Amino acid sequence: MQIAITTTTQPRPRPEGPLGFGQYFTDHIFRVDWTDGRGWHDARIVPYEPLALDPAASVFHYAQAVFEGMKVFRGDDGAIRLFRVDRHAARLADSCDKLCIPTLDAESFAAAVAALVRTDASWVPAASTGGALYLRPFVVATEAFLGVRPAKTYALIIIASPVGAYYERGFAPVRIWVEREAARAVRGGVGSAKAAGNYAASLKVSMAAKKRGYDQVLWTDALTHEFVEEVGTMNLFAVIGDEVVTPRLDDGTILPGITRDSVLALLRARGLKVTERPLRLAELRAAHADGTLREVFGTGTAAVVSAVGTLGTTDGDLTIGGGEPGPLARAIHAELTGIQSGALSDSHGWTRVLD
Ligand SMILES: *Cc1c(COP(=O)(O)O)cnc(C)c1O
Repeated sequence: MQIAITTTTQPRPRPEGPLGFGQYFTDHIFRVDWTDGRGWHDARIVPYEPLALDPAASVFHYAQAVFEGMKVFRGDDGAIRLFRVDRHAARLADSCDKLCIPTLDAESFAAAVAALVRTDASWVPAASTGGALYLRPFVVATEAFLGVRPAKTYALIIIASPVGAYYERGFAPVRIWVEREAARAVRGGVGSAKAAGNYAASLKVSMAAKKRGYDQVLWTDALTHEFVEEVGTMNLFAVIGDEVVTPRLDDGTILPGITRDSVLALLRARGLKVTERPLRLAELRAAHADGTLREVFGTGTAAVVSAVGTLGTTDGDLTIGGGEPGPLARAIHAELTGIQSGALSDSHGWTRVLD
């Protein structure tokens, strides 16, 4: 894939103060278009600017829109490292496939990511800040037509946002509401795709939980609401006695997190007993009652590892670990961020230094 590069003549203002998450965007974007009969064409890096889309573009009407979320890191050595780009490429392809969107091959995806990061390398935060450059690849249907069928044109775009350390205010545990009425995903649906519509559909329940003092929602299975599945943008782990449990992916209702996969590998490398299986809320409740529920944490690209201090239910709150982050959540967070930044050696082959 040839990538034409047009650099900006009007650099965007650099952020001052804390970066937060997803508030600032770099000088350039990557874009490649797809046309039926022609495939992907016109790969390019161009200055960041608003998109021109026809009001009839089918993404606005029938939501053929999928995305990815990934980070690149600057190490103490100054080098920029990409984390598991191949897995993000594969997951984007899988999300596309589920929504009848054409897929981009992994090699071209990696080339696009590398080209954009190279162009905007000066936006990758310094290692000392604990920040990263967050990349948001997305694919949308651009064809102007009304009618329910797959579009005949698409754009794959990557935007980049410098983000701060997630824990600028410390590794504070989150309060999670266990939702047992609404559902995020159903068996046979598209819950395992990073499809934009899934997030729009979750907002109402998230807002209701926020109003009651919770940070995020833990979704349960749509059929019985007895099994916990995942948090809004994080997969869930529970340490019950000497077992670390995370809900299995078999039903296609859980987003297969790349952080989840990385954390599973790190836990197994520690020789811990790690199980992917159905996890009942009742089991968490019983373990909490008999004192064996040692830790609960979420995993996702944004937070990496986020300790859960409270599980809110209609029968009251369960406080975990005295509301303090557990030792395993802390240790895995330190290990994974260490690998990502290059401070720790990467025996799993997850990182690639940008040349
Ligand atoms: C992105 C996402 C995750 C976490 O995936 P990572 O690859 O670890 O960032 C978990 N659940 C949902 C619903 C997500 O959208």
